Amino acid sequence: MKNWLLGLMLATGLAQAEPMILTGTLTHADHNTYREVPFEVPAGTEAIYVKVSHDGQDDNTVIDLGMYDPFGFRGWSGGNKTEFYISQFDATPSYRPGPILHGTWHLILGLPNVSIGVETDFRAEITLINSENRGNSTEFHTPISTERGWYRGDFHAHTGHSDGSCTSLAGNKVPCPVHKTLDAALEAGLDFVSVTDHNTLTHQATLRELAPYYDTIAVIAGREVTTFNGHANVFSANQPTDFQLGSNRLPTLSHLYQQVEDQNALISINHPGRPTGAECMGCGWNPPGNDYSRVDAIEIVNTPQYLLHETFDHPLSGIPFWEQKLEQGYRIIGIGGSDNHEPDVDYGDPKYRFAPVTVVKADSLSQADILDAVRVGRIYLDLALEPGRLIDIEARNGNQSGFMGDTLTANQGDRIELTFITEQAEGLSLELITSSGLTIEHGELQVNQSESQHQMSYTSDGERSWVRANLRDSDGRLVMVSNPVFINFD
Ligand SMILES: [Zn+2]
Ligand SMILES: [Zn+2]
Repeated sequence: MKNWLLGLMLATGLAQAEPMILTGTLTHADHNTYREVPFEVPAGTEAIYVKVSHDGQDDNTVIDLGMYDPFGFRGWSGGNKTEFYISQFDATPSYRPGPILHGTWHLILGLPNVSIGVETDFRAEITLINSENRGNSTEFHTPISTERGWYRGDFHAHTGHSDGSCTSLAGNKVPCPVHKTLDAALEAGLDFVSVTDHNTLTHQATLRELAPYYDTIAVIAGREVTTFNGHANVFSANQPTDFQLGSNRLPTLSHLYQQVEDQNALISINHPGRPTGAECMGCGWNPPGNDYSRVDAIEIVNTPQYLLHETFDHPLSGIPFWEQKLEQGYRIIGIGGSDNHEPDVDYGDPKYRFAPVTVVKADSLSQADILDAVRVGRIYLDLALEPGRLIDIEARNGNQSGFMGDTLTANQGDRIELTFITEQAEGLSLELITSSGLTIEHGELQVNQSESQHQMSYTSDGERSWVRANLRDSDGRLVMVSNPVFINFD
């Protein structure tokens, strides 16, 4: 219980917002009555976070909680919660999400027990969240782990809030409840999963309800902005993002990027190599007038591609598109997405429901740190689904050093030293991928040991360059994809 309460407080990212403090004293005269605590909510408020405490525990004083907005009842949690969150789109169970109307709201204190002779001081902290202080208000729980480490997960899954389906108890194909996706992700051994239903964000209310129970997997708020000219996942936004590209609501993609940036959210172009057609409408990526400097990530491997072609490096994968953007000088991080639409489909092993796995080096297992890790880019894709198998790149130029995702600077003639690090990759072949015109001297690229380091280097021409690596199995199949080290990228 304590953890959960603390979790709710931290999970709403309220460190940035100053609460208003309302206090009062209760005596036996209040026994079996309701105290109404009014407070003003200004226009522009997006969410309200309430935390109530009192000093009457030793006297067995009990305070039940509820809330009325200017027009009526918003919920009642009795004595079962001491803090709660209400926003336009999601709310702590017991409370109703909906418009945060400006005007006078009333926190209701129900008082089933205040003993004779007792004086209890109560304190209500009420935080009003708006566009200035919203922080990570879609973070559903405290870090699942506070350790820095490699975490395995999936950035793309659908539920019954869009076109995700599964088999009902009576055997019918039905919109699939959100918990089935979380159960399947746990069964697949993932550390995190993002639910990214098409355009809507109604699943976020369900995730807020489920998160305290699913406290062994980090749940990331997402939605798949789905236009007729391509799809893109937006992560950690707490407000809607428009998707009607070309209409008055979303005249150009710049407007979408602005909405993403205003919410400190993150955007990833999905399955850009897939063709648009009757089978997948608007799936190819061809929006007019795109500014790729505002794109954080690209989904370079998307599973339906694998299921169709039984290879992850089919020409229609997102990898050629991504590498073309790298060549054009855009520092964009490659991630993966299962695009799971059927969490109960049987592929023979639960892990295949969430392929590929994206492995990120993050400061903790939490939404905020996983998404920060995407910004940093120390990330690789595990296509063969082998936990413990690792690829990493360390780069040095004199005193500068970095890993995958980092940018180093180099003058003409500088020697760039690269170390390709692998673990549990025996029998695989290391394949170097570089920006065009780059030659890297190297020796044997077969990985023979459980932990290996391959040193290589090249001389910078002072221009922009990038280097990354793949691992392939003995049949030549692509099994691991690293992100690049960037040289002289802005
Ligand atoms: Zn899509
Ligand atoms: Zn999708």
